[in-house]
Parts: sequence; structure tokens; C-alpha cells
Amino acid sequence: MTIALPSGETIPALGMGTWMMAEDLAHRAGEIAALRAGLDLGLTLIDTAEMYAGGAAEALVGEAIAGRRDEVFLVSKVLPGNASATGTVRACESSLRRLGTDRIDLYLLHWRGRFPLAQTLDGFAALAEAGKIRHWGVSNLELADMQELTALPGFCQTDQILYNLSRRGPEHDLMPWLASQGIPIMAYSPVEQGRLLDDPLLAEIGRRHDATAAQVALAWVLRLPYVNAIPKAGSVEHVRENAAALSLRLSEQDLADLDRAYPPPAGPEPLAML
Ligand code: NAP
Repeated sequence: MTIALPSGETIPALGMGTWMMAEDLAHRAGEIAALRAGLDLGLTLIDTAEMYAGGAAEALVGEAIAGRRDEVFLVSKVLPGNASATGTVRACESSLRRLGTDRIDLYLLHWRGRFPLAQTLDGFAALAEAGKIRHWGVSNLELADMQELTALPGFCQTDQILYNLSRRGPEHDLMPWLASQGIPIMAYSPVEQGRLLDDPLLAEIGRRHDATAAQVALAWVLRLPYVNAIPKAGSVEHVRENAAALSLRLSEQDLADLDRAYPPPAGPEPLAML
């Protein structure tokens, strides 16, 4: 399963997140093994950020993808406090050093901060010109921010937002608008950081398909053609389980049961963030 970016390039519908990785040395080998297992299974989009573990998550990703860089669609993010025109370039160059690569495939503004969007876009343009990033996008931007952004020169490739069964607010206006513009979303925390996995309804629906609650939560996010999901899994076992969600198709009955438990938004809601 793939998702088309506005650039015309396709990316895997299911990728891997890295927030909370590289926080504990005892887990390092397992986390690297998990990311490598994901690459073997075709989860070749890896999402990271200069913020995660103060840069150590990028270094861990660099180690995991060493020798396999060309297989990977690498996503990283600049912190809003660094997102001036020159600060964005400096932040990206530091990320590239930690990642041990010469380019980031998709570089995102992590959330909107004090710098005008136009300044950040100037930084992205300079980075693209130098071949240090291939594409750029944003994260945690509301509809009004996206409308402002897309009126500026350049092509935003995604808005990475919090989206899962228990966070359906963006379905009201942000997601339809992005779809109308051909801009896919990248759904972060697709299993609500594990909190969705204790819901007996997800387990019950899983039993109908010989699947797990995590697979049901991911298949639900992936039911839409313009949504990519980036679950974080710290073990090979969880990565394998998540990859198998790609072959799970939820039935109309499953979707109706999930809609009753997790109703779509009745009106506009502020975009939630984790
Ligand atoms: P998540 O992916 O919804 O949940 C991660 C948690 O779920 C971990 O505790 C993980 O445990 C567990 N898990 C994953 N697969 C599982 C499975 N098959 N069975 C049981 N447990 C499972 O939450 P997230 O890490 O917040 O979000 C995903 C990624 O999105 C992040 O890592 C990050 O890259 C990105 N993100 C971006 C933003 C932003 O502002 N742009 C914000 C949040 C997250 P184990 O580690 O033990 O496998």
C-alpha cells in the first residue's frame, strides 16, 4: 500500500515512528533491530525529529539505516524555535550529521512557533536548492494555518497530525480540505500511544479477523487513501504485528461498530497535539 505525495512520488502507507526511542541504553539494540526488521518488511518510511531524545533518536536512526540509506524515505523535523530561515538550515545540517546522511527526504516544521511561515519556507527552499532536503511539509498545523501556508510559494507534501480512533476531530474540516488539495496526512500516535489497545471492542473486532487490537487500530487509520500512519514500535515482535495490519480489511460492520464507540466529530474541534 502506498500514498501519493503532491510531488508525484509515492511513500509507504505504513511507516515507523521513533519518539521515545534512544531514551534508554538498555533498549537501544532492540530499537535498532525493530527499525531494521521494519525495513525488511517494507516499512521503509522512518519518522524522527531533532527533538526526540535531544537528537539521540536521529543518531539511532542513522545507525539503524547505515548501509541501507537508499531503501529509506527519511522524515525529520525542525523545532519551531529553530525555524527562522537561517536557523532551519543550521538545524537541518545538525540533523544530517546525526543521521549520517547527506539528505532528508521530507523535512517538517514540527509545529507552528514564533517565526513567520514564510521565513521557514525560505530555509526549506535553501535546503532543497543545496540538495539537503528533497521535500518539505509541516506538522500540527490547523486548517487556517494550512490555508495561509499553501498561499505561499512552494509545495507542502504533508501535514503530520494526531489522528486515530479516539482523535477524529480533523475529519470535520482539516482532512477534507487537505484531501481536496491533494495533500496527504501523516497520522501520528495511530494507536494513541498504546492507550487504544486495552479497548475490548478492538480486541473483539480483532477476533473476527484473527487480528490484534493494534492491527485493528492501524487498519482503521489506513482505511483512507490519503492517510499514512507512523506507529512507533520498540520491538521486532510489535513491528511484525503492525506490518501485518496492511493486509487487514475492516468490514462495514466493523466500521459501524467503531463509529458507535468512537463517533466522528459533530462540528469543528481545535486540532489536538501530543
Ligand atoms: P503510537 O505509535 O500510537 O504508540 C506507540 C506505543 O504503542 C509504544 O508504547 C509501543 O510500544 C506501542 N505499540 C506499538 N505497536 C504495538 C503493538 N503492535 N502491540 C502493542 N503495543 C504497541 O504513539 P507515538 O509514538 O506517539 O506516535 C508515533 C510516531 O509519530 C512517534 O514515534 C513520532 O515519530 C511521531 N509523532 C509525531 C508528533 C508530532 O508532533 N509531529 C507527535 C507524536 C508522535 P513498544 O515501543 O513497546 O513497541
